[in-house]
Amino acid sequence: MTGPEVFRVALDTPLRRAFDYLPAKSVVSVVPGTRVRVPFGRQRLVGVVLEGASSSELPPDRLKPMLEVLDPSPILDPGLLALLRWAADYYHHPIGEVISTALPKALRLGASSSTTEERWTATAEGQQAHREGEPKRAPKQRKLLDLLVNEGGATAARLTQELPHWREAARQLTARGWIGSMEVTPEASDSSGGTRDRGPPLAEEQKQAVETVAESLGRYGTFLLHGVTGSGKTEVYLHLVERVLEQGRRALVLVPEIGLTPQLVSRFRQRFDLPMSVLHSGLTDHERLLAWREAYSGRSRIVLGTRSAVFAPVPDLGIVIVDEEHDASFKQHEGGFRYSARDLAVVRAQQANVPVLLGSATPALETLHNVNSSRYVRMKLPRRADQAAHPRMSLVDLRANAVHAGISTSAIQAIERHLKEDGQVLVFLNRRGYAPTLLCTACGWVAPCTECDARLTVHMSAGRLRCHHCGADAPLPARCPQCGFAVKPVGQGTERIEESLATLFPGMPLVRLDRDVVRKRTDMEDAMRRMASGEARILVGTQMVTKGHDFPNVTLVVVLNADQGLFSTDFRAPERLAQTIVQVAGRAGRGTRPGEVLIQTEFPGHPLLLNLLSEGYDGFARAALEERSQANWPPFSRLAAVRDSATTAAAALEFLTDARRLADPPRKIKLLGPVPAAMAKRAGRHHAQLLVEAAERGALHRFLESWLPQLEQLPSARRVRWALDVDPQELF
Ligand code: ADP
Ligand code: ZN
Ligand code: ZN
Repeated sequence: MTGPEVFRVALDTPLRRAFDYLPAKSVVSVVPGTRVRVPFGRQRLVGVVLEGASSSELPPDRLKPMLEVLDPSPILDPGLLALLRWAADYYHHPIGEVISTALPKALRLGASSSTTEERWTATAEGQQAHREGEPKRAPKQRKLLDLLVNEGGATAARLTQELPHWREAARQLTARGWIGSMEVTPEASDSSGGTRDRGPPLAEEQKQAVETVAESLGRYGTFLLHGVTGSGKTEVYLHLVERVLEQGRRALVLVPEIGLTPQLVSRFRQRFDLPMSVLHSGLTDHERLLAWREAYSGRSRIVLGTRSAVFAPVPDLGIVIVDEEHDASFKQHEGGFRYSARDLAVVRAQQANVPVLLGSATPALETLHNVNSSRYVRMKLPRRADQAAHPRMSLVDLRANAVHAGISTSAIQAIERHLKEDGQVLVFLNRRGYAPTLLCTACGWVAPCTECDARLTVHMSAGRLRCHHCGADAPLPARCPQCGFAVKPVGQGTERIEESLATLFPGMPLVRLDRDVVRKRTDMEDAMRRMASGEARILVGTQMVTKGHDFPNVTLVVVLNADQGLFSTDFRAPERLAQTIVQVAGRAGRGTRPGEVLIQTEFPGHPLLLNLLSEGYDGFARAALEERSQANWPPFSRLAAVRDSATTAAAALEFLTDARRLADPPRKIKLLGPVPAAMAKRAGRHHAQLLVEAAERGALHRFLESWLPQLEQLPSARRVRWALDVDPQELF
């Protein structure tokens, strides 16, 4: 049997195809998933071999040989490669760009995938020089030599951590023959156990959940762990991961945002005394490469990360866990390749033939629909682990209540009561800054963003006006630039609420939590610590406060404004609102005391709110799914959005109008639009969208497959930036 003669290589180009190459000289075969360097026009590019083939459509004299094979063994195993090819098909995105998303930048540029590490040590001469106090006049070199002598050597990674910019010093010391480096293979971890402590004994429902999923270890199955905040979901994850580790396999755990949920990472670290890779957007390219290599080599037994970690290499994968599966951050909604890490996690588990566990207190309606249609198995944890009662929720009618700077009299009285009874209070408002509008009371001028169809937000303590959409930043004017009269901030942001609360409750220690005050990870931890210790009594914040923190002494939660989500044009807005309310309510009364939740609204008769209050999230979800079914929205139909932006509104609409004209949609496909985006102008560019609605997935994909290549050929496409978003999570 003769092997393949050409190899199809995925390259990071916007072209929707792979490229054929002959093997490099003296190479017979290349395994799919291996990186190769190839000539491409005048460039040399790094690509990944997809497959071998016995012939090419290109004439033999046009086929070029590869330049080199970069990996001794494939960096993408068959399961991962299958996942990426599936994603390229499903999201209709070029395979080369999809693979490129899955790899750390350093690997895309050709860095070694091998896990040997660069280890530096002091030479005998270096140690002698060190004893003599050398080098005397070069403090950076001295520090480096110090560290290498005292610790008997160190890896490059450790040096980068300890002494940023140490390479120059290392070069000098090497030149003097005092230190040297070599590539060494780190010791492999032994694969047995490594559990530090076992955690509390599981409650009956937790046990059942663990057993249900554990029975499926070794084969595919999707499970939803639906439990209120504090019901012990994380404990279930930990037990399942332990089972998987016992089998000598590894776990992949996806979380929404590590910066905001440091607790989950530390719970995993506390429980398991094993190497773990943590992948998130805050890593430098080099750190990402190191974490990837740890995962790839199999040294890491647990890989924990945010969205793109769904593509991390995990040899002998045993389980995939997605915490807070409803979280919007799992969907990439920018750039070219817009994927859902939650959905891909399910596909990955399928490819790897392992179970996947989705956890949430407020599952996405899509996920619940999959439960209803028996594709997923739901397990419920109905009670809190600490036996605390569910919080009592009630509505505050803003029309019937006097309001002081956004806070109603009823809410003020409740806050007073809870503080008096030694409780802590959490006040939630999904808007940072001081006020969303700066208004001239004489002529009606409102401070606009010149780059966006948006108003500038007042940031009082910074004395600035800022655009929350494009980042534009201007000094706060003292007078109206139009008529010279006085201006005043209108509406509430967290900064202003903090000020109001300080006035209403003088001397009461307050903490604010939003993107303006949390600049570094330690800011977040500081605020958390002040709340946890009881030093702070009131916490004011945005969405940030709804993420996984445990404040056992918070007995009252006030939602200042529920109305933003009630009347949106986006059919998903009610779902988001319900999720936010339930998540923030879950912060109340986690200790021994029952909690109270007040929701301020101008629409206390709104069916969504009433439903949520009387029947909880399940009741809400039932009604909301019924509405979606009536209106034929997902999950009862399939959507894709073609979005574009251009320097003029006309150009943005022109491309989409041409696209629509090109389309010859079959019966099962409806085109909606094009329409300008709800906020049409953003950061100086005009945005528009065209929606494709299909009765089912197959029809949608057949249509897109024939339509998209034609869009690329449109002359008007050259005047816009456009992208396809399959299963869009936001409509505007
Ligand atoms: P979730 O992930 O659903 O928010 P956690 O797993 O974090 O819930 O559990 C909430 C709290 O209850 C944690 O402090 C956890 O240690 C504790 N806990 C969880 N399960 C049990 C149990 N079976 N017995 C006692 N405490 C538990
Ligand atoms: Zn004016
Ligand atoms: Zn702007």
